[in-house]
Amino acid sequence: MRAVRLTHWGAPAVLTDVERPSPSGEEVLIRVEAAGLCGSDLHVLGARPGTLPYAPPFTLGHEVAGRVVERGPDAVGPRIGERVVVYGPWGCGRCGRCAVGAENYCDRRAALDAARAGTGAGLGRDGGLADFLLVPSGRLLLPVGDLDPAQAAPLSDAGLTSYHAVAGLRPTPGGDRSGGRNGGRNGGENGGGTGGTGGTGGPGSTGGDVDGANVVVIGVGGLGHLAVQILRAITSARVLAVDVREEAIALADECGAHFGTVVRADTADALRKRTGDAGVDAVLDFVGTSATLGLGLSVLRAGGALSLVGSGGGELTVRKPGALPPGLRISLPFWGTRPDLEQVVALARSGAVRVATERFPLSRAPEAIDALRSGRVRGRAVLIP
Ligand code: NAD
Ligand code: ZN
Ligand code: ZN
Repeated sequence: MRAVRLTHWGAPAVLTDVERPSPSGEEVLIRVEAAGLCGSDLHVLGARPGTLPYAPPFTLGHEVAGRVVERGPDAVGPRIGERVVVYGPWGCGRCGRCAVGAENYCDRRAALDAARAGTGAGLGRDGGLADFLLVPSGRLLLPVGDLDPAQAAPLSDAGLTSYHAVAGLRPTPGGDRSGGRNGGRNGGENGGGTGGTGGTGGPGSTGGDVDGANVVVIGVGGLGHLAVQILRAITSARVLAVDVREEAIALADECGAHFGTVVRADTADALRKRTGDAGVDAVLDFVGTSATLGLGLSVLRAGGALSLVGSGGGELTVRKPGALPPGLRISLPFWGTRPDLEQVVALARSGAVRVATERFPLSRAPEAIDALRSGRVRGRAVLIP
């Protein structure tokens, strides 16, 4: 079968032939129908030896949708022929976190890393930029019904990570995640209903957080354009989008952002002005460079939340007393949980979330990688075997 592989650190991804795997034990074999390319793939391709807790060779691709074609004798979960999306962070499967579907925060991660076990599909383990993907267990598969595979695949990271980051802005995680306050992304900004964030932007006690919380999304790429839609679908926040590309701001607008601006010298002023000078309640940073962290912090109000998702390598000094806004809450979300993925799939199936895709045949993977690297992808690049 064909597979897009990283053979050694620093090498370009190569399309090559490898043996088709065959499932044993609990394993399940998926015929890949679509696989998304993520900004993280660029970080993996550009990583220096020793900086990631795993090593090549492996097949890339951690956003995967397909059809179950073979099951090991002890397999659980979806039957042969079912369409599924792959839950990509692969934990130990046995600890408390894994037991509740939070394999992204597996308690045995350090041990798995020490054993060079890989972080998940396409991240140290063979991933889905290939004709087939071997999944360690059916617990890592979610049925997607008749959802278009090119829509389904990006949900497993771009959608899931964005959902998890948005849900993590809530001070009370017990809030109603199935929300749909606005009845979808085209709903009214202050539409009725009782779902929503339960306080996206602030420490709860400040009130007024649900109606009129201002949330900045920095970086409207694969993840960011879905974050805008998810914010619109499950919260009543006002969404302010920032990117360096005009096309990305146009996409943010299509996704329901209330305001968008390309980065300029006066971007912080422009954002603050949108909040009546109070500052914003939350920043979702899908870039994570020093520049974007600086921008985010300069517009956050006291008691606000910074969610650092992008792996841009920017650093913050956390110190008291110091220059950070008082009451600031910082989160470093990693991927998402299986229940989060269930919510994202439900949002997509309901039509509240729709991935903007640019489709490439698997054979053109190197071209798709170049397009992503040079900022020419609108939404998500998806490879179709
Ligand atoms: P992407 O390339 O599709 O999107 C990045 C967007 O940011 C682009 O629209 C780009 O124009 C914009 N951008 C770049 N520099 C900017 C700047 N200085 N200011 C404003 N906008 C800027 O990438 P993606 O797949 O959406 O991934 C985004 C980041 O998130 C990557 O760093 C990736 O590694 C990371 N990521 C993290 C997780 C996690 O679990 N925390 C999961 C997936 C991806
Ligand atoms: Zn990713
Ligand atoms: Zn675990």
